[in-house]
Amino acid sequence: MGKIIDLFNGTTLPQQKKRQVLKLDAEYEEVQAQNQVLKSENLKLQADVNPLRRTIEEMEQKIAQLTASAENALTFNQSTGTYIDPKTGIHFCTKCLSADKRSPLRNGNHGWRCMVCNADYFDPARPEPPIRMGYEPLA
Ligand SMILES: [Zn+2]
Repeated sequence: MGKIIDLFNGTTLPQQKKRQVLKLDAEYEEVQAQNQVLKSENLKLQADVNPLRRTIEEMEQKIAQLTASAENALTFNQSTGTYIDPKTGIHFCTKCLSADKRSPLRNGNHGWRCMVCNADYFDPARPEPPIRMGYEPLA
């Protein structure tokens, strides 16, 4: 768009009106300059948005992976040497887990036994009864 004052070419405009129109032209020029600045800032921001969108997508994927692995996470029990699912309390065989197998353990009298690899895990909270000398259960 050209200047507003050009619209009055060939006409006689009172001096006061002419000053107002020239002032409007100056304001319009200033607004156009500001608009150019905003347009270039907008382009720069749009260029910044795409990498940020990719970062957000990557982080969302990572959160989903971490959430899934946290849901399946087992905690190591130092006294028995087994892994326990904190949600169910089920013990798992450490030996089988090292081969990426989740083998639940059978609860025995003195600890845990893996029915897959036969590994035994002694539970110090359930010590074996003392051997009674001369005890003959079938006698
Ligand atoms: Zn096992």
